[in-house]
Amino acid sequence: MPRKIIAGNWKMNHDLPTGLQLIEAVADYLRENVPQKVEVVMATPYLHLAEGRKIAQDTPISLAAQDCSAHEEGAYTGEVSTGMLASAGTELVIVGHSERRQYHAENDALLRQKLERCWEKGLLPILCVGEREEDRDAGRQKAVVRKQLEGALEGCSEHQLENLVIAYEPVWAIGTGRTATPEEAQEMHHFIRQYLIEAYSATLADEASLLYGGSLKPANAHELLRQPDIDGGLIGGASLKAADFCALIKAGEELLR
Ligand code: PEP
Repeated sequence: MPRKIIAGNWKMNHDLPTGLQLIEAVADYLRENVPQKVEVVMATPYLHLAEGRKIAQDTPISLAAQDCSAHEEGAYTGEVSTGMLASAGTELVIVGHSERRQYHAENDALLRQKLERCWEKGLLPILCVGEREEDRDAGRQKAVVRKQLEGALEGCSEHQLENLVIAYEPVWAIGTGRTATPEEAQEMHHFIRQYLIEAYSATLADEASLLYGGSLKPANAHELLRQPDIDGGLIGGASLKAADFCALIKAGEELLR
């Protein structure tokens, strides 16, 4: 059974006080409403991770970084290593978000190294894949996603992939208010699972946790989270307010299969 995950990605939002208040508010909700099924993840800016971990310590919240360095340590000004993240109690790392691919020119080879750094330190990577609007308009969305998977996962063992979450995030749906239809999202999630069967095994594919991301919010969670191959969500805008994020946690508890 795949892990069911509701993960918030704050991107570059919230200063330290308002960010910690948000973690506190979600922690309070979870103390009252202990999730039975869903794992709750908050991907904050680096700045919030250590203090956020303390605030959330008696709750099921896991903290995630939004990125990590591809290097282990050394003269890489401005970078944060997976060893540093692990030492601050961070448990997951988003790798290859489309904004990193687009604005920081991250390519598959670099993402492959970042995955390795995560696994070395026992962190769970959430690898993001997804096509741009022009790819979908041209009908090549599956080819694009397959190429991203092949590139980032080149040479990975099945054992490594047991510790991987994949988020399908169509770029045209991120932060745009435009969501993939449940059919479009399900079709791609099913395609990713089929790819894992082909490239690895049915056992790995059955256990793989596949998240949908792209303008997911309480109003559209109902139809998306019920899809058979969707195991949760990676949520940007709607993770910035406790009420919306907690509503999505509740929706995950009710709807994820
Ligand atoms: C994201 O940042 O991964 C994301 C899906 O953003 P949004 O929910 O705002 O589209």
